[in-house]
Amino acid sequence: MRSLETDILILGSGGAGLFAALHAHKAAPQAAISVAVKGLLGKCGCTRMVQGGYNVALAKEDSVERHFMDTIEGGKWLPDQDLAWMLVTLAVERIHELENELGCFFDRNPDGTVHQKAFAGQTFDRTVHKGDLTGIEIINRLAEQVWARRIERLEEHRAVELVKSKSGDSVAGVLMIDVRSGEYVFVRAKAVLLATGGGPTMYRYHTPSGDKSCDGLAMALRAGLQLRDMEMVQFHPTGLLAGPHTRMTGTVLEEGLRGSGGHLLNGAKQRFMPQYDRLAERATRDVVSRAMYSEIVKKNTSPHGGLYISMAHLGPERVAREFKGMVERCADCGFDLAGGLVEVVPTAHYMMGGVEFRSDCSTLLPGLFVAGEDSGGVHGANRLGGNGVANSTVFGAVAGDVMAGWIRERGLETPDGGAIDAAVAACEAPFKRTASSGLERVRERLYDVMWEKVGIIRDGPGLEDARSELAGLEMELDALVLREDRCGSGEDGRRTKKTRSV
Ligand SMILES: Cc1cc2nc3c(=O)[nH]c(=O)nc-3n(C[C@H](O)[C@H](O)[C@H](O)COP(=O)(O)OP(=O)(O)OC[C@H]3O[C@@H](n4cnc5c(N)ncnc54)[C@H](O)[C@@H]3O)c2cc1C
Repeated sequence: MRSLETDILILGSGGAGLFAALHAHKAAPQAAISVAVKGLLGKCGCTRMVQGGYNVALAKEDSVERHFMDTIEGGKWLPDQDLAWMLVTLAVERIHELENELGCFFDRNPDGTVHQKAFAGQTFDRTVHKGDLTGIEIINRLAEQVWARRIERLEEHRAVELVKSKSGDSVAGVLMIDVRSGEYVFVRAKAVLLATGGGPTMYRYHTPSGDKSCDGLAMALRAGLQLRDMEMVQFHPTGLLAGPHTRMTGTVLEEGLRGSGGHLLNGAKQRFMPQYDRLAERATRDVVSRAMYSEIVKKNTSPHGGLYISMAHLGPERVAREFKGMVERCADCGFDLAGGLVEVVPTAHYMMGGVEFRSDCSTLLPGLFVAGEDSGGVHGANRLGGNGVANSTVFGAVAGDVMAGWIRERGLETPDGGAIDAAVAACEAPFKRTASSGLERVRERLYDVMWEKVGIIRDGPGLEDARSELAGLEMELDALVLREDRCGSGEDGRRTKKTRSV
């Protein structure tokens, strides 16, 4: 096992992780800062996938109070109001930092002001964007700035366990697996940030990047931390539905389509949203997804069992100009977004729930901090589109600033060696079993159970059924064997590694 030491260890390189790294570095330039990430820094996670944009009150006619009230009402009055206030006020600082210090180019109006577009659930059009692929602009600029600084990168390192100190009073480090080599790596750190981005990838239709599988939440639970609002899972109304053969199914067609006046149609090609809500397609995601699910249950559906989005009445040229990325994505799957109909289905998008945290991003485990989608409480029952990337950048920056102060005058804790051994044993267990493999079948069943019984509309009996089915799947999973093969023997030794196959 490889051992490393650092002052600040950041898990995840989305908006939360990279903002934390930059702010911590600025506040404590001499500190050793490491970012460990399951994929490649700047190339993975959901911040890069942000399409629509970033909510922030910039215009003279708008205000942070108004953004705050939209957030509270959109969240059905369940957001933690102190956290929501921090979100809307600090978003203004972060967007200026993104533009003026980090170099993001956002779209502008002819008079030079930043263009802000319409998103659902807003009383003012306040979504800052770069076309309809905003996340690439944000994450590329953040990654460049991280690369330019003395910040250690542990890429393709998957964190598997938070390890406490011998006394159990604080976090001492994190056990990881170097995904390229299969080697275990233990990183001791004075402060650890959980920014692995949640990710409801256990549903049949889902949007998040494949590297997200709630690892951070699972590690936090095992470390004895409390999660909150876990029943609040957001379904984005317009997931692309292009058949089971393609991973494009479930990916998002951005909210700006509904925001700018797109219509949702049922299988008979009739508009139905006005019957469900006075805001029709511009109602918040929870309302629209429930209405769509009700239509799907009536079986008035498109060929693949979903519904349609129609934009053509807005003028195909305008749609092609304003939603270039979406039009191309749909064309790749055989749909004409600008002039025709595209099949869509609500798709699991975001977990409002997460680790309970204080407004300085600290948790009940001293030394452990949390930010971004791993944290719970900012959005209540429903996150407004455009508030996700605001959340990760705002609280990532807070965490960076606070951790820079936390590590001063503190030493590294001695880790609980028994806990490391137990975590390694848990990782190794699937290789030591003798039962047959069948992981893919378990995953497919999990998708169905979650979609049908723990999905958009839930009831007690359905949840009870799901609980026992999930318990059965867990038992099956616990019996499955993974095979371990050796392959390659590169002369540089780097390829003389184990690969593990299912
Ligand atoms: C398709 C799509 C479109 C979206 N559009 C918008 C939008 O228009 N506006 C908006 O506000 N929000 C949008 N969101 C939501 C937004 O992307 C998220 O709310 C936000 O970016 C999350 O940031 P994060 O830093 O918490 O997580 P992420 O950006 O997802 O980063 C998580 C990081 O953790 C890493 N990781 C995961 N597990 C581990 C592990 N075990 N060990 C180490 N690293 C790990 C991942 O590789 C990744 O680097 C969208 C989401 C999706 C999926």
